[in-house]
Amino acid sequence: MNHYKLLTPGPLTTSSTVKEEMLFDRCTWDHDYKAITQKIRRQLLDLAHANEEEYTVVLMQGSGTFAVESVMNTAMSNSDKALIITNGAYGERIVKMAKYIGLNYTEYCVPYNEHPDENEISRILQNDQIITHIVMVHCETTTGILNPIEMVSNLSKKFGKTVIVDAMSSFGGMEIDLPSLGIDYLISSANKCIQGVPGFGFVIAKLDKLLACEENSRSLSLDLYDQWKEMHEDGKWRYTSPTHVVAAFSKAIDELIEEGGISARQQRYETNNQLLRVELEKAGIHAYITAEKQSPIITTFLFPNDQFSFNEFYSYMKERGFVIYPGKLTEVDTFRIGNIGEIYEEDIAALCMIIEEYMGVLSN
Ligand SMILES: *Cc1c(COP(=O)(O)O)cnc(C)c1O
Repeated sequence: MNHYKLLTPGPLTTSSTVKEEMLFDRCTWDHDYKAITQKIRRQLLDLAHANEEEYTVVLMQGSGTFAVESVMNTAMSNSDKALIITNGAYGERIVKMAKYIGLNYTEYCVPYNEHPDENEISRILQNDQIITHIVMVHCETTTGILNPIEMVSNLSKKFGKTVIVDAMSSFGGMEIDLPSLGIDYLISSANKCIQGVPGFGFVIAKLDKLLACEENSRSLSLDLYDQWKEMHEDGKWRYTSPTHVVAAFSKAIDELIEEGGISARQQRYETNNQLLRVELEKAGIHAYITAEKQSPIITTFLFPNDQFSFNEFYSYMKERGFVIYPGKLTEVDTFRIGNIGEIYEEDIAALCMIIEEYMGVLSN
């Protein structure tokens, strides 16, 4: 089998040292293993600039969606109401969760290439005072647009609402100061910017908010409160924990700190993203999201012309060592390139050369 680098938004390319951690089988109730869980929880708090008097961390088995659903299912009671802001598929997935759980909610639906409007959110909150929670995706991986969490968290402070942020594809790759933003629940997962492998998600939650949610859950396995209660005691997961993934994640988080922390990683991702967008623009491939709204995580590109075939392009790239991602828009033809993971400037430069070469082949 030919090896390739993943230019996808996760699972992504991980270091060989992270993968090596999975060669040993660990016992879930052993003290050493439980200590790894506690270490991870402390490190995640540090990365969020939070302290354990105010915030706590819960790890949840499953992909990132399971962790988001555990928050929606646990953080809201039947008398609460959510304002869900959407401008992409991941926001829409949260709306779908709200329907499944039977939550009271209202959706503020924004075009995929636009930011939510501050005045509009204010208006919604003023007109519907029953709203208790505001939910938004930070980096909408659907397009790569970066949503304004500062604006939304300021509004929720002003109106006294609970804020839930799906920062799945941004946390670890972008500085997010939870206490100063006043975010109540932030969700991310093992296989995105921390650069671990897939298998669990995590929630960084305000302790007093979570403690008030004991009775809320409509699901046993997605009960975030119950998961926290057991894990917080001594690092024991409820039910089988993904031991290999946890060990790999522990190493990945150490490597993030060795790299210089989130700010250094953000710098690397920004350099990657900048280079990618500039070089593709030169090759006649334009980005869908404007530069000032673009995240340093993943970019959506429009098909350069009518002859362009994604499948052909994909195979051409894969044969040369890079795997890219299809687009997720319905009205325009697009593809996506992620620049997170164990990916450096030289990888992006190599990728751009191959793309330029392909564009030459296309026009001949
Ligand atoms: C990756 C991602 C998720 C979770 O997706 P899973 O496939 O369940 O891991 C949720 N929200 C955003 C914004 C994401 O990028």
